Amino acid sequence: MDCRWKGIIEAYRDYLPVSEITPVISLHEGNTPLIKANNLSRVISPDKNLQIYLKYEGLNPTGSFKDRGMTMAISKAKEAGKEAVICASTGNTSASAAAYAARAGMKAYVILPKGAVALGKLSQAMVYGAKIIALMGNFDDALTVVRDIGENYPVEVVNSVNPYRIEGQKTAAFEICDFFGFAPDFHFLPVGNAGNITAYWKGYKEYYTIGKVKSTPRMVGFQAEGAAPIVKGFPIKNPQTIATAIKIGNPYSWQSALQAAKESDGLIDAVSDEEILNAYKLVASTEGIFCEPASAASIAGVIKLSKRGVFKGDEVIVCTLTGNGLKDPDTVIKASEKPVELPPDTVEIAKFLGLE
Ligand SMILES: *Cc1c(COP(=O)(O)O)cnc(C)c1O
Repeated sequence: MDCRWKGIIEAYRDYLPVSEITPVISLHEGNTPLIKANNLSRVISPDKNLQIYLKYEGLNPTGSFKDRGMTMAISKAKEAGKEAVICASTGNTSASAAAYAARAGMKAYVILPKGAVALGKLSQAMVYGAKIIALMGNFDDALTVVRDIGENYPVEVVNSVNPYRIEGQKTAAFEICDFFGFAPDFHFLPVGNAGNITAYWKGYKEYYTIGKVKSTPRMVGFQAEGAAPIVKGFPIKNPQTIATAIKIGNPYSWQSALQAAKESDGLIDAVSDEEILNAYKLVASTEGIFCEPASAASIAGVIKLSKRGVFKGDEVIVCTLTGNGLKDPDTVIKASEKPVELPPDTVEIAKFLGLE
């Protein structure tokens, strides 16, 4: 691997709709680690020797996989001469759009569901200089407004309705295949607006078609139970979940997510908030990896399917950890014991630690 990594557009230029005249707006996104999770695997299934790997997308420049799509969307908007971009967001799209727009010298407008965005993400949109609207409505309402504005005003929509987002995000599948030299057996990921599962499946299929890999993974997407329109088969008016990044009731890429599951012999299913929180704490405490609650839906999904007896043993399983846990510290602080307060007394502290 070239250590002078220049971002996903330079790395995968041949597979992306860019040309020499495309101004590449990059923060050197991508090239995220694929971490083997042996401890997690032993806890989930001691006897199956599952080869679980975590694609840690929280290490992207703004802390989520959205940067892969945003480098493409913003570069193409710049190429088209656009001066402003707009998005609806549960937080990460707005953080990413604001950062890349700043780098491109463009304006960013972001519409967020009021009171439903993790503080870290809100602070990012603020510091990157976006114009922010807290909408009195949910994500689905925000996306409707954004698409209206995109149709009627000279502003580029950079939600995953923008096909360049999907193009950029498919590079994560390329990285995984390049790492192994083959495709995994299973790929698990959280599903919100369903752009990412669509993008990964597109990436795997493209590598398969050109002969870079000889198989494709079974695509397994997990929604949160209180925000599971694809599983239930109808839009959810008031989606509810602690995993705010996937709190979406009417996903834009609904049909392509179903298609990815069907074509790959995979599935879309749901996990409860409790299962999500357990998986969230488990991956942190067994592997030292802090992801967002929504990200942990992928691991909760592996646990669920393992209990259901889906795995025979030795399967290569990739989970995408979509975002960085530092964006949403409130969730873990609320769910944890407060630190004990003690005076600076060595003996007393040693006693408390059980060393005396
Ligand atoms: C955007 C996001 C998701 C959901 O991805 P979709 O493409 O909308 O399905 C999941 N987790 C995190 C952290 C996200 O930012």
